[in-house]
Amino acid sequence: MFDTPELNAFRERIRSVLREKLPADVREATRCGQLIERDRLVAWHELLAADGLLVPHWPTEWGGQGWSVTQQMIYDEEVAMADAPELNSVTFDMIGPVLVRYGNPAQRKRFLPAIASGRQWWCQGYSEPNAGSDLAALATRAERRGDHYIVNGSKIWTSYAQYADWMFCLVRTSRDGKPQEGISFLLIDMKSAGITVRPIVGVHGWVVFNEVFLDNVEVPVDQLIGEEDKGWTVAKSLLEFERLKLARIGENKRRMARAKEAAMTRTDDGVRIADQPWFRSRFAELEMRLIALEANAGRFIARQQAGEKIGADVSMLKMRGSRLIQLWEELTVDALGPEAMPLSPDWLYAGADAPRQDSLAGTASSRRFLARGYTIAGGSSEIQHNILAKQVLGL
Ligand SMILES: Cc1cc2nc3c(=O)[nH]c(=O)nc-3n(C[C@H](O)[C@H](O)[C@H](O)COP(=O)(O)OP(=O)(O)OC[C@H]3O[C@@H](n4cnc5c(N)ncnc54)[C@H](O)[C@@H]3O)c2cc1C
Repeated sequence: MFDTPELNAFRERIRSVLREKLPADVREATRCGQLIERDRLVAWHELLAADGLLVPHWPTEWGGQGWSVTQQMIYDEEVAMADAPELNSVTFDMIGPVLVRYGNPAQRKRFLPAIASGRQWWCQGYSEPNAGSDLAALATRAERRGDHYIVNGSKIWTSYAQYADWMFCLVRTSRDGKPQEGISFLLIDMKSAGITVRPIVGVHGWVVFNEVFLDNVEVPVDQLIGEEDKGWTVAKSLLEFERLKLARIGENKRRMARAKEAAMTRTDDGVRIADQPWFRSRFAELEMRLIALEANAGRFIARQQAGEKIGADVSMLKMRGSRLIQLWEELTVDALGPEAMPLSPDWLYAGADAPRQDSLAGTASSRRFLARGYTIAGGSSEIQHNILAKQVLGL
């Protein structure tokens, strides 16, 4: 699908930039599956930004290169295969494109250059303790008082809120009409008085998630995106921006390579894992699934390039791509056997003093647990099944 002379040359250019620019310590930490702290990630963003590779999918007016979906997918694949950190999609794929489409000129000017520089970090304040899949049930409220809102409530599962400078947040501004009708989309400075971020340590040992409490937080009205009570349209559009990318082909290929490496370097009873029938059949099945996923993603890309509507059946890409990531992680853990069991907090973080570790076994269990989230975040697999059943199959 991606095999044309132009696209091959494009791929080669990306590859060589990544080879040249990616700092060895960041590559090693990513390869080991360690979590990298904010400062080093920001430094990496800055390096990419200098080459125009941080937000290449944005319009040129705002520092992007207006890439096609195909180019973006090749880029994501090369980033994954180079063991470069996955870029924070909340910042670069969600709020950036939302501001491009829905921000007023002052809002765009204020935020887009800062995001494109790589130095500003965003988090997403959608989910609440009683509003996840049923997001329209959200209860965090914002009351207008003159030229600002007063926001009260709490958010949960807010990824990397501990790193964030800003949060885009869904708040309830009205209880009239359908639940979707009284929701607004606000940008909130994480340094505002009244915000408390409480980390949640995951079963994998990392702090990815947080609770965010908002207690009489003042938000200037010029930080409202779009119209008051009409935030649902803005909120939904976030998903559109990355529907095709949710197949996560690159991340799947990276995991396939790790599973293979584990099997080639480990033995059981003197026999290489890669030569054992159980491994070979599972690997072959997953590889076939990946080939099918890529072919399927190609169909949707072709539709998009032909100017056709993408359609609700695109849900299958998210459903299949996220489950496949979990299956690769499980295969790697099984290939490593007891070696995958230890879970040392020292191994998980990639601070400058982090001890050296085996690049495959050190974080294998953690990564496996972390991968559980893929079939929940961004609309769980059950919700994707519902969409396919109702909107595609008409059940
Ligand atoms: C890795 C990860 C990162 C996340 N990051 C963020 C973030 O940065 N910001 C943010 O706002 N949120 C974030 N979330 C939260 C995520 O959006 C929610 O977890 C998700 O929407 C599901 O909501 P819930 O956890 O409340 O589960 P619930 O909605 O309570 O669902 C519980 C179970 O019931 C099933 N279920 C629910 N409704 C139906 C239905 N109608 N039909 C069939 N089954 C159903 C679900 O599939 C699930 O299995 C993140 C989650 C994960 C896992």
